Amino acid sequence: MHHGTTRGSCVGSVKTIIEDYFTQAGKTVSKALCEHFPLSRQELFDVVAVHGYRTFDQVVEGHGTGRGCDVCKPTVASILASQLNTHVLAVENRGLQDTNDAYLANIQKNGTYSVVPRIPGGEITPEKLIVIGEVARDYGLYTKITGGQRIDLFGARMEQLPAIWQRLVDAGFESGHAYGKSLRTVKSCVGSAWCRYGVQDSVGTAIALELRYRGLRSPHKLKGGVSGCARECAEARSKDFGVIATEKGWNLYVGGNGGATPAHARLLAGDLDDETLVRYLDRFLMYYIRTADRLQRTAPWVDSLDGGLDRVKAVVVDDELGLGSELEADMARHVASYFDEWKATLDDPDKLSRFVSFVNAPGVPDPHISFETDRDQIRPADSTGPVVLGTDIPVVTR
Ligand code: SF4
Repeated sequence: MHHGTTRGSCVGSVKTIIEDYFTQAGKTVSKALCEHFPLSRQELFDVVAVHGYRTFDQVVEGHGTGRGCDVCKPTVASILASQLNTHVLAVENRGLQDTNDAYLANIQKNGTYSVVPRIPGGEITPEKLIVIGEVARDYGLYTKITGGQRIDLFGARMEQLPAIWQRLVDAGFESGHAYGKSLRTVKSCVGSAWCRYGVQDSVGTAIALELRYRGLRSPHKLKGGVSGCARECAEARSKDFGVIATEKGWNLYVGGNGGATPAHARLLAGDLDDETLVRYLDRFLMYYIRTADRLQRTAPWVDSLDGGLDRVKAVVVDDELGLGSELEADMARHVASYFDEWKATLDDPDKLSRFVSFVNAPGVPDPHISFETDRDQIRPADSTGPVVLGTDIPVVTR
């Protein structure tokens, strides 16, 4: 990627912006993804879009060498999923997925998997709460309420996943995509419906945004938050996109995250009506998905742009590149093509056939998996230590 010129926070002329855009889009030497592809993730995204590729083989034949690796295969799979929105377990791209994507569940430390149904905006009916409780009880799963306002169920063996999900899908749940590089949750406070301070319906907006962007494959996980007034109880500014109610509408903040390197989201635009909020978010998310590097979250992505947040404003709010309608059309295609990956898996014997611990003995559980009991719930019995984080996760000491 090109970082040659610095203009501080001043946004240059439209011509300069367009030149910079094309420079970034691949006219100069840029970050090669891995030994198999000389192109950056952004360039690969563009060639997939231009050529209409549908499989990894087509992409590697046209622009790479070899058979792919743990870096380029999931990256190409994510790019194909962002553009085509096909099932991640579709036959032609199945072998490309990370382990978590491959079983539509996150593998945990004793080889079992977690089950995370989507609970949009954190709002759930008593009936659905009871279903989650019954499923957890019947399968002996460990339950925990997460920071994203949903309920994780831990300890499912791989061959149990389809039956567990069948019950959840029958009760109206769908995949929460906790396993994917995609939208996780849009957290909300109770807002104007219940809170005396609330000036807008934060729950309704959070649900609408979560349903709009669910299933959206992206360079890294995406989180959102909506608060019903400036008191910010939903911690929206610690999310990739944060929406905070004002007397007149919504302030939109972008580029926040928690994690090892916390960042507060910064104001992109203020006092937006519902429609403009969604339009700017559509553009922002698609601009990010198109141009970010592999595993780059929104905060470092904004910083990496020439002009930083001002560049994002120029593209998303002022539409200086004239890309706005194209980005919105990309998002409209995503919304129109959304389907629940777990329901589609349950409906397809071929996709279901992979959920066995032993290929030669389907239905036989892995005997190495064992549990003990702690605080009235199961936990893994093996005492293996934590996965070592490595040098790229800094420990902040002050
Ligand atoms: S952010 Fe405002 S509306 Fe939401 S719960 Fe807190 S005080 Fe109430």
